[in-house]
Amino acid sequence: MENPQNRALRALPSVDALVNDPAVVDARGALWHELVTRVVRHAIDETRATILAGNHDAAHGLTQRVVNELAILDGRRSNIVINGTGVIIQTNLGRAPVSADTAQAMNDAATSYLALETDLETGERGGRGATIESMMRTLTGAERTLVVNNNAAAVLLTLAATSAGRGVIVSRGEAVEIGGGFRIPDVLRQSGALLVEVGTTNRTYVRDYESAIDDDTAALLRVHASNFAITGFVARPDLSDLTALARQHGILSIEDVGSGCLLNTSHYGLDHEPTLTESVASGVDVICASGDKLLGGPQAGLIIGRSEVVERIRRHPLARAVRADKTCLAGIEATLRHYLRGEAEEKVPVWWSMSRLTDWLNERTSGWAASLGSRASVAVTSAVVGGGSLPGKTLPSFAVVIRDDSPDHLAKRLRLGTTPVVSRIIDGQVAIDARTVLPGQDDALLDAIRRAIS
Ligand SMILES: *Cc1c(COP(=O)(O)O)cnc(C)c1O
Repeated sequence: MENPQNRALRALPSVDALVNDPAVVDARGALWHELVTRVVRHAIDETRATILAGNHDAAHGLTQRVVNELAILDGRRSNIVINGTGVIIQTNLGRAPVSADTAQAMNDAATSYLALETDLETGERGGRGATIESMMRTLTGAERTLVVNNNAAAVLLTLAATSAGRGVIVSRGEAVEIGGGFRIPDVLRQSGALLVEVGTTNRTYVRDYESAIDDDTAALLRVHASNFAITGFVARPDLSDLTALARQHGILSIEDVGSGCLLNTSHYGLDHEPTLTESVASGVDVICASGDKLLGGPQAGLIIGRSEVVERIRRHPLARAVRADKTCLAGIEATLRHYLRGEAEEKVPVWWSMSRLTDWLNERTSGWAASLGSRASVAVTSAVVGGGSLPGKTLPSFAVVIRDDSPDHLAKRLRLGTTPVVSRIIDGQVAIDARTVLPGQDDALLDAIRRAIS
């Protein structure tokens, strides 16, 4: 009998045959012919290598893989999804969607020339991000703001510019991993600063920091523990006590606050997430925060603080390597304007989601269930903020639940539809949480569910 590996290899189609397969011809779209040949050749080569590695079924679905790849290259497969997970800031789904005004401002900045570093009054060189600085000053009282690529860059740059070659004191309970490889001890090492850990995992006092301060100390660093919470027998100094201690010893205080919150989360029945305004008021010298968590803007890192320190950070060579581009600056500016106008709850999507009332969510899901028919019902659920904010805390919510013998398959059909829907499985059924389905997505969602269950 022929050996199965040879049989699998012989069964592979030729490049020509696959290029001319009707499904592939159909999927070619506007792509250039030679490119289709390259895609096909690459897919066949990969399949051959997989067969040689011992997987004799590797050719199964080869044509479909080529068709999918062509659809992606030609831009016919969108990766825009409806978020039915109930996780408001979902890193795997791109974190915060921005407001319509923010998207428009980013689009305008992207497609035009703009006075990015030109003062239109004098026609001379002006400061990049000057409007954002003035907005942040108004909102939080911060003297200066520098916008960089993301918060990881903000922390790295801040430490490199202020503390390289010297000690930075961190509580053992805060030497954490935020996720995605961002570990405070590693970032410190990368910046050239020396980590000095004090206290214990659950309890650290001002006196622990104080006794570690010596001539080589550059700063005290406070880190928001982000994705995890220690509860029970815990102690952690107030930020204002730490900043007072730092000032008394002539060293810097730095806070990595994470989420960049400007509103009070306790209004929605959640715990209180520290706000940028509170951090500034505590007197901390520099604060680092993300732009696309609770701020609700595009991916960015904000370095906020005292003039003299932020200026030192801005002049560090690494600052240029991590600086924000013009679309990001336009997006952050437009997002901050919603806070200045007091309209963030209605306009900034993450705050829109957080501030929906349960009655409204109940009504919304009841409407969905009624229009979907007998397989759909409404369930009480819990949504979460996500993105490392308020771990373990939930927001009451409602979901539409679709009955199916094979919920995993239904969830997959929903993901692979023309408008992909990401759901979650609750008690063995597919659930789509109303809190994270954005306004205006209702019809597209119902259409997608109908297709998936028909
Ligand atoms: C999220 C987070 C970071 C990383 O921020 P990015 O914007 O993802 O780079 C760093 N520190 C804390 C405390 C965070 O919560």
